[in-house]
Amino acid sequence: MTSAPHSDPAPRRRIAVVGAGPSGLYAAAALAASGRPVDVDVIDRLPAPYGLVRYGVAPDHVKMKSVIRVLAKPFDPATVRFLGNVRVGEGGVPLEALRTCYSAIVHATGTSVDRSLGVPGEDLEGSIGSGAFVSWYSGHPDFTKLDPPLDHPGMAVVGAGNVALDVARVLAKSADEMADTDIPDPVLDALRASKIRDIHIVIRRGPQHVKFTPAELRQIGELANADVVVHDDGLFAAGVPEPEERRQQQNLAMLTEWAARESKDRPRCIHLHFLRSPVRLVGTDGRVSALVVERNVVDGDRVRGTGEEEVLDVGLVVRAIGYAAEPVPGLPFDAATGTVPNAAGRVLDGDTPVPGAYVTGWIKRGPTGVIGTNKSCAHETVAAVLEDLDSLPVPEADVEAVLAQHGAEPVDWTSWLRLDAEEVRRGGLRGTQRVKVAELDEMLAAARAADSALSRG
Ligand code: NAP
Repeated sequence: MTSAPHSDPAPRRRIAVVGAGPSGLYAAAALAASGRPVDVDVIDRLPAPYGLVRYGVAPDHVKMKSVIRVLAKPFDPATVRFLGNVRVGEGGVPLEALRTCYSAIVHATGTSVDRSLGVPGEDLEGSIGSGAFVSWYSGHPDFTKLDPPLDHPGMAVVGAGNVALDVARVLAKSADEMADTDIPDPVLDALRASKIRDIHIVIRRGPQHVKFTPAELRQIGELANADVVVHDDGLFAAGVPEPEERRQQQNLAMLTEWAARESKDRPRCIHLHFLRSPVRLVGTDGRVSALVVERNVVDGDRVRGTGEEEVLDVGLVVRAIGYAAEPVPGLPFDAATGTVPNAAGRVLDGDTPVPGAYVTGWIKRGPTGVIGTNKSCAHETVAAVLEDLDSLPVPEADVEAVLAQHGAEPVDWTSWLRLDAEEVRRGGLRGTQRVKVAELDEMLAAARAADSALSRG
């Protein structure tokens, strides 16, 4: 096929990716690498990129955070532009306004709400969702004032996923071990003052059902500062049915070995309680003072309660039972799955695609999978955007003007690099690679240290 000799080049489409976490950044990279006439802006409400890699991956999982090098690539040289410190939606730039300056918007804002257990006492002080707790120790600016009570020797984590392991491990490690991570200084001070000795992981099903990944489970068995005690009630001796999945078989083998282990009298202890469901949190003076759990028996792949209760002496309960998404104002939402209805990333209103609206990451498929899962997820969405590209509108409104009109003061990539350098500098003072700046005003001050102009990619 030959093209017409004097045809105009295809007009460039401007695409916004909202959310600078792994799913958004994989999508931005794929769009930029497509060779199609697109300009890509990544918008995030925080002045720092990387979303859950920065605020969800545990601070001591340094290797896992090295994916940042890959995620940063499209910004340097600037094939993609970063617009941090820009809130989309309530209190920020309305979605309708954003639609006037972009041909398409890829929503990659994840799932930000902690699921609740639905048991009495959950609102007591000292009952905290894992999203909030993890955000606190990761230095997320929204959670610097969380102040979780670490002054009681017992605490409980509810759930048998990797987030429960992260929370247990961070609390089980010594403060000196945690000093060698990027946690903010006030968090390190709180961990140094922690009185926690017994960390109870409350698991509603059996050892053959846990959702941990074996590599993460192994880590709690190798801690220098904590023993692991498996409370199996003779479960292993009675014989646990061999699960089908290799991951579950590996978990079961590890747990079976641990059940026979001797305690080494380490300073802290992680207790694994199987077949226990939380039934209520008990409070004293408005604060958690105990967690009551009910014993379960296995019933096929599920469990049922026996009515027999036990009391765990704890001053803090962290629910690590998964996350839910908040609806994105202006987009359809399926409350049952906590996702935006979509077909391969195209947002659907009923059966009809919403023009120019796409999703990727946890808001598209729910809060599952590892960081790498977001790459294939983002590629699927980008394939849909590129397929639709020629039919997308060419926007007329100016991005900067629209953002300014709604009071946004973006932090660009160069400014983020200044904040990045400040964190590395603080790390040097503590003898670690980086120490996070957590307070928003300090983040902005560091980002804007030399100039406040929005530099263009
Ligand atoms: P998850 O893997 O879905 O685990 C949630 C756990 O909560 C399950 O054990 C579930 O039990 C339990 N649960 C749910 N509702 C409950 C209730 N009402 N009462 C008691 N227990 C309840 O979720 P997650 O740990 O939040 O992790 C989210 C995703 O991030 C996962 O894909 C995870 O692998 C990933 N992640 C990975 C890493 C890593 O690779 N290092 C770190 C953190 C997170 P049932 O099984 O009985 O439903």
